[in-house]
Amino acid sequence: MIGAGQAGLSAAYHLRRTGTDSIVLDAEQGPGGAWRHRWRTLTMATVNGITELPDSQVPELAAQTPARLALPAYFADYEDEFGLQVHRPVTIHSVVDDGHWLRAIAADGAEYRMRALINATGTWGRPFWPHYPGRERFRGRQWHTRDYPGPEAFAGKRVVVIGGGISAVQLLQEIAPVVADHLWVTRREPVWVDREFTSELGRAAVAMVEERVRRGLPPRSVVSVTGLPLTPAIRAARESGVLHRLPMFSSIDETGVLWAADPGSADTRYDADILLWCTGFRAALEHLSPLHLRGHGGGIAMDGTRTVVDPRVHLVGYGPSASTIGANRAGRVAVREIRGMLGLADGPGRPRGRHSVVE
Ligand SMILES: Cc1cc2nc3c(=O)[nH]c(=O)nc-3n(C[C@H](O)[C@H](O)[C@H](O)COP(=O)(O)OP(=O)(O)OC[C@H]3O[C@@H](n4cnc5c(N)ncnc54)[C@H](O)[C@@H]3O)c2cc1C
Repeated sequence: MIGAGQAGLSAAYHLRRTGTDSIVLDAEQGPGGAWRHRWRTLTMATVNGITELPDSQVPELAAQTPARLALPAYFADYEDEFGLQVHRPVTIHSVVDDGHWLRAIAADGAEYRMRALINATGTWGRPFWPHYPGRERFRGRQWHTRDYPGPEAFAGKRVVVIGGGISAVQLLQEIAPVVADHLWVTRREPVWVDREFTSELGRAAVAMVEERVRRGLPPRSVVSVTGLPLTPAIRAARESGVLHRLPMFSSIDETGVLWAADPGSADTRYDADILLWCTGFRAALEHLSPLHLRGHGGGIAMDGTRTVVDPRVHLVGYGPSASTIGANRAGRVAVREIRGMLGLADGPGRPRGRHSVVE
């Protein structure tokens, strides 16, 4: 297994529960997956909601606890409670098929041979920066959500926030009180959802993403399918004008962004000090490129968690399972299918005690 965030730990739990001979490799220095790196101001009050890991409960936490502390502590306890041994830090550079085994090659040259692979490497390692002409010429600062330094860095600045997802909405609310001025631009008109996020809504969104990846198309995030929730805070921000949205600009120059005008008229421009790209992430799967899993649609065709090209390779936390809602189920399904493929009988049941999962 590669990756030990929410999706990886869920699969590791089921590997352990079924007594499957396995090894779990993870690039981080400690437990928590990408939560270790979330920005300081993302708290348990502002996360979208966390689903518990299998056979456990998310601990009750003060709303103001930073997610980057709370979730890693929960994951650390979980690994401990269920005796999930994760080898860290191990970064896998590539996975190759030698005709018999899948071989995962680590940055330090170590090799791990396996008959099947569960890959759970998330998206945090691959921030997405869309290309707009002139981006490299801009003389101000540019940050991606991934590197958001906190609202202080925006004090007194003119800021363009780019992107129509929940992170753009959250960061706009954070920086609006301190900036000199801001603009919010998105490619499409944002879709606001004025109803509670129910499990039915979640399931419908997961099914929609599942259908895309079955057809070999690149996945969309589940949150992008559900729309933006109109919480009381977001409603207030809209009413105060903080979330006034403009269409995407067409280019960037040294000092700002520009919207192309009709021939004969001047472009419209906005001078900016900072461009904040809240433009999401892509699946961090470069290490799997030697396996040629991608098809013509640009995505990896999937049947459940299994890749269609190579049934030994399962992706959890990818596409429909790329949220804490889908990750648990995906871990269970992947382990069941791999055991079926390898002809293994069911193992000992709920993991207890602390003996090793690494054989
Ligand atoms: C800002 C932000 C907020 C979010 N908030 C929520 C939320 O509130 N609720 C929700 O359900 N979802 C949320 N999500 C989606 C979230 O990413 C998932 O829910 C979940 O945390 C992802 O878990 P994961 O295990 O797939 O990935 P990760 O937590 O990213 O874990 C992947 C692990 O794999 C390791 N890894 C990666 N590449 C390699 C490699 N080559 N070799 C070895 N190890 C590797 C990483 O180091 C990491 O430990 C949010 C996403 C973002 C970006």
